[in-house]
Amino acid sequence: MREDIKSMTQEEIAQAMAARGEKPFRGRQIFAWLHRGVRSFEEMTDIGKDLRRKLEGAFYITAPAVERKQVSRLDGTVKYLWRLGDGNCIETVLMSYHHGNTVCVSSQVGCRMGCAFCASTLGGKVRDLRPSEILDQVLFTQLDSGKNISNIVLMGIGEPLDNLDNVLRFLELVNHPQGLNIGMRHISLSTCGILPGIRRLGELGLQLTLSVSLHAPDSETRSRIMPVNRAYDVDELFKACHEYFQRTGRRISFEYAMIDGVNDHDWQADMIAAKLRGMPGHVNLIPLNDVAESPLKPSRRVRQFQQRLEGRGVTATVRRSLGGDIDASCGQLRRKAMEEEKKENER
Ligand code: SAH
Repeated sequence: MREDIKSMTQEEIAQAMAARGEKPFRGRQIFAWLHRGVRSFEEMTDIGKDLRRKLEGAFYITAPAVERKQVSRLDGTVKYLWRLGDGNCIETVLMSYHHGNTVCVSSQVGCRMGCAFCASTLGGKVRDLRPSEILDQVLFTQLDSGKNISNIVLMGIGEPLDNLDNVLRFLELVNHPQGLNIGMRHISLSTCGILPGIRRLGELGLQLTLSVSLHAPDSETRSRIMPVNRAYDVDELFKACHEYFQRTGRRISFEYAMIDGVNDHDWQADMIAAKLRGMPGHVNLIPLNDVAESPLKPSRRVRQFQQRLEGRGVTATVRRSLGGDIDASCGQLRRKAMEEEKKENER
């Protein structure tokens, strides 16, 4: 079985070289090539033929293929559907803002969290992504688009804290000076609220931005729309967030998709304010994206809810929606491609 070399750290590659009787500096050389996006050992031109052949026998290099690419005519947002080595597809979104280019990456093929409003979870989880496969989304989006990526959000398909070891390795790789060298302060990680994962991140004290998908401040509503709440209750979640803030000093961002008649009542805004007290949280209100398969509809009270929060001292913004014309959110493109593939097969 060949090994996935792009999931290895520079030190691990150097050790593997030393173990084969090669000079350890090869680690640095190979690492740099991989993080420039080469697709084969053949392209590593300053490495001798013999060693290249040996490497080929022992390792493989992941490189996704562009299965589909959609460019928004409204705002230039680009959505990639990549095909992975084993045939599975994942999505990546590239968004351009005045302060730079942000890429939104997936952490799993599918998702097993079961949130009622989310398209990513409809087919369940197929498998975790490897560190290299998360990195490739940044690397090949940059190469394909020709745009320099300055920010990363782990907000695509999947639950990053359900694949934490691989996500931590990805962070180490993408942060590396000889790699893409993207600073932790330019990275956000979004979770539906897996408490052991939040605690572990807090202990590590990484300087990334933690986003928590809150979507309801009360247990009853949250359990209804987010099954994870039955395992990790929202009050425990708030407690873990307070601890996280105390440890890291980093302000947490709370995602809140506004659903008509479900989580858009004034009393819920008041409850958010009460439960956030003592911590500088920031609430990001997201107009719900209509998912065809779901009976949940977008709220018409977004502005009122925002004002209610602000009136109680909570910073709240309404997320600007990008790529509305290209299925740019939450697993919708992968979903569409899967359906079409299914139809093809039935024919
Ligand atoms: N699993 C992680 C990250 C992926 S989802 C998490 O739950 O945070 C990225 C964000 O999109 C989450 O806040 C998620 O709740 C939100 N989201 C999912 N479906 C949505 C929809 N239909 N409309 C608006 N936001 C949605």
